Amino acid sequence: MTLLDTSAFDGRIFTGTWEQGEGEPIVVRNPADNAELATIGSASAEQVHQAAARAVSAQEKWIALKPSERAAVLRRAGQVIQENHDELAGWVIRETGGIPAKTGLEVGNTAAECFEAAALPSHPHGQWLPSDGAHWSFSRRRPCGVVTVIAPFNFPLLLAMRSVAPALATGNSVLLKPDPRTSVIGGFALARIFEEAGLPEGVLQVLPGGGDIGAACVEAEEVRVISFTGSTAAGRKIGAVASEKLKRVHLELGGNNVAIVLPGADVDLAASAGATGSFFHQGQICMSTGRHIVHQDVHDEYVDRLVARAEALAVGDPSTEQVHLGPIIDEKQLKNIDSVVQDSLTAGAVARTGADHDGLFYRPTVLTDVTPDMPAWSQEIFGPVAPVHRVASVDEAVELANASEYGLSVSIMGPVGEAMKVADRIRSGKVHINEMTVADEANAPFGGVGDSGNGSRFGGAEANLEAFTEIQWVTVSPDEIQHPF
Ligand code: NAD
Repeated sequence: MTLLDTSAFDGRIFTGTWEQGEGEPIVVRNPADNAELATIGSASAEQVHQAAARAVSAQEKWIALKPSERAAVLRRAGQVIQENHDELAGWVIRETGGIPAKTGLEVGNTAAECFEAAALPSHPHGQWLPSDGAHWSFSRRRPCGVVTVIAPFNFPLLLAMRSVAPALATGNSVLLKPDPRTSVIGGFALARIFEEAGLPEGVLQVLPGGGDIGAACVEAEEVRVISFTGSTAAGRKIGAVASEKLKRVHLELGGNNVAIVLPGADVDLAASAGATGSFFHQGQICMSTGRHIVHQDVHDEYVDRLVARAEALAVGDPSTEQVHLGPIIDEKQLKNIDSVVQDSLTAGAVARTGADHDGLFYRPTVLTDVTPDMPAWSQEIFGPVAPVHRVASVDEAVELANASEYGLSVSIMGPVGEAMKVADRIRSGKVHINEMTVADEANAPFGGVGDSGNGSRFGGAEANLEAFTEIQWVTVSPDEIQHPF
C-alpha cells in the first residue's frame, strides 16, 4: 500500500479530511532536477480560522480518551513510519535533496520522536504539595489546547514531528503549517501517518501555505501555543505577535555554530568532525558548523586535512547517483550562499577549495584567513561552507566563540580535560566534546540561546511537558468549609 498517494493531495489541504484548498495551489518540485512531484492545495486565511475552531472541539474529544489510548496512537504512528520507511525516505531525497544518510537519520529519528512521545500520556503529570491547610493540595499538568507548529524545509519531517508528537501526546490538538517547498514530507506525510495510526479526525490538521498562512496560524484566537522552527527574522515577527496576544511561543531559530580545535587534538578526526559539521546536508542545518576556530599549533594541518576531505566529496543528484552532497533547496538560497562567499573573498578571505557551483549544486568550500567582520563569519550561511580562523590561545578561542548573537551548538575537539574547562565557559544551548556540532536525539533537550531561540527545549519528557502543558493548582477539602464571609 502507498502511504503518500499524490492524487489524493491534488489541490487539497488536510483538515481531518482531504479538503479543497482555497489558496493558490503549490507545485512541489525536486530541487535536483526541478521535476514536479505533486501539486497540492494551500489554505486560505478563512480555512485557517475554520481549522482553529475545529481544533477546539477535536481537542476536547482527544483529551477525553484514556492515556493508554492516546499512547497507543503515538506508538502506532512510530510503527507506521517504520513500516513505510523506504517510501518516506524516497520523499526526503526527492523533496529536500537529501542523501540517503540524511534520509535514514531523518526517518529513523522521526519514528523515535513518536515512541518517546508515547511515554508522555502515562508520565507523572504533577506534584503533591505539602500544605498547612486541612486539605489535599497538588498541581497537575493540563494540555494547553490548540498548538500551532510551523516547520522549515531542511529536515521537514523530523522538525515537524518533534513538536507535533509531544503536543498530541500531552492532549493538545495541532495545526501544522509546513514549508511550501516541502509540504508533502513535512506536512501531508504526518497527516497520513496519523490517519493510519487512528488519530481522531481534526486533532491534527495540515495547512500548507506561505508566511501569511503561518501568520494566520499564529494569530488565530483559539491557538494558545506556537512551536516555531525557522529563521531568526521570522521568529522575531512571530514572537512579537505572540507577546502582544499573550500566547506562549517556543522559537527554535538560526545558528552560527562553532568548532573549536584545541592544541593536542587528533587533527584528522577534528577535520572529519569539521567537514561533516559544515557539509552534511549541504550545510543546510541549524547546527551546521559555521565557524572553525583553530589553535595556531594545529591550524595549518587542520586546514590541509579539511580541504582534502572537502575535495573528496561528490556533489550531485542523490536520486540517481551516489553522492555526499545534493542540491541546495532553491535558487534564492543558493544566491544567498554565493553572495556571502564572494563578499568574504572580496574582503580578503582565501578560498582553499570550492566557492563555485553548477546550478543548485554548490561545491564544499573551505575559506581561510576569515576575520570576524566578514559575512562568512558573522552570518548564518546555510550552505556547505567552512570558514576557518586561527587563534593564538584558548582564551581567544572562547572569547571568539561567545562573540555571536547566536548560541545553538558548539563542538570542542581535543584533550577531554581541556575541552571540559572550555565547555564551562561557553554560552550555547548544546556543547559536544569530541563530536561534531550536528547532533539530535529524541530524549535530549534541544534548543538554543540568544538569537538561536527562546522558550522551552524539545526532547525528553521534562522539556516536552514544560513546552506543551499548563500547570493547574488543585485543592480538595474533605468537607465544605466555612469561609469568613
Ligand atoms: P523561514 O523562517 O523563512 O521559514 C520557516 C517556516 O516559517 C516556513 O514554514 C515559512 O513558511 C514560515 N514563515 C515564514 N515567515 C513567517 C511568518 N511571518 N509567520 C509565520 N510563519 C512564517 O526559514 P528558512 O530560512 O526557510 O529555514 C532555515 C532557517 O531555519 C535557518 O535560519 C535555520 O537555522 C533555521 N532552523 C532552525 C532549527 C532549530 O532547531 N533551531 C532547525 C532547522 C532550521
